[in-house]
Amino acid sequence: MSEEYGLLDPENAEEPGDEWEEIDVSDTEADRIARKRDREFSQFRERVKDSDQFKVEQSVFDDATLAALYKLVQDGYVQAFGGPISSGKEATVYSALGDEENGEVAVKIYRINASNFRDMREYLVGDPRFEELGGDKKRVVLAWVRKEFANLKRAIKAGVRVPEPLAVQRNVLVMEFMGNDGRRAPTLADARLENPETAYEVVKEYMRRLFDSGLVHGDLSEYNILVSNGELCIIDVGQAVTYHHPNSGEFLTRDCANIASFFQREGLDVHGDELENWIRENADPEK
Ligand code: ATP
Ligand code: MN
Repeated sequence: MSEEYGLLDPENAEEPGDEWEEIDVSDTEADRIARKRDREFSQFRERVKDSDQFKVEQSVFDDATLAALYKLVQDGYVQAFGGPISSGKEATVYSALGDEENGEVAVKIYRINASNFRDMREYLVGDPRFEELGGDKKRVVLAWVRKEFANLKRAIKAGVRVPEPLAVQRNVLVMEFMGNDGRRAPTLADARLENPETAYEVVKEYMRRLFDSGLVHGDLSEYNILVSNGELCIIDVGQAVTYHHPNSGEFLTRDCANIASFFQREGLDVHGDELENWIRENADPEK
């Protein structure tokens, strides 16, 4: 029977969230470097601790985070650190000089000890990849960063404009810098939109493509869309969940409501429920 209809054998079906490689967060190269503390790393550590651009970080980075930065420099993904671009709830984003090919890059450094773990909960519960990690904060953050990297790759594959992910090391993500002539791109909330109708059409199509690839952003709003060189670029996809996640429907509804309400304020006659219906009718996340 099941052969006739080409039905997937449930044994072989993708488990919810099974689309990514297993997340091994037990120990990292950076943790090993931090433990060993050879002379070169110690010098790097002192240099970074003394540098002005990291002073805003109230709690100076722990050794393992410094080791992750050190490893990224050694591996050639970063040549020099610039200043902070933004300090958000769970991460600080810095500009940096990447390799020759990439030029300026954005480096997102997640804090492991900051007390924002609660905000991550609604995204973590129901995701088997995370439930296995229990309540271990470090491992959860590390898995989160890997997930953000994987989600960025997946969004690109789906034809959604996001920063290209370049490297991930422990709690640090290196990605394409979105800017306009070296200045960081404004968010949709800060940009002056000449043509909100077109912008809405683009965001709507990106939401559809994302959903069609089986992902829901989960924190989409005018604050997580950048306007860079005439392009709209979706960012902050660490919390994005797959279609299988028990809250994915709720997240899609919320994303649609946020986007519709922003464009309403821009004068458009759009509604969250219509947007959601359109996305659901024109995407096939189950394929
Ligand atoms: P928040 O809590 O404010 O949402 P966050 O910790 O979730 O922050 P992001 O939303 O990913 O982090 O990034 C915060 C800000 O950093 C963005 O609003 C944007 O200004 C800047 N930023 C992030 N990624 C990039 C990038 N690739 N290029 C340029 N700027 C970026
Ligand atoms: Mn954000």
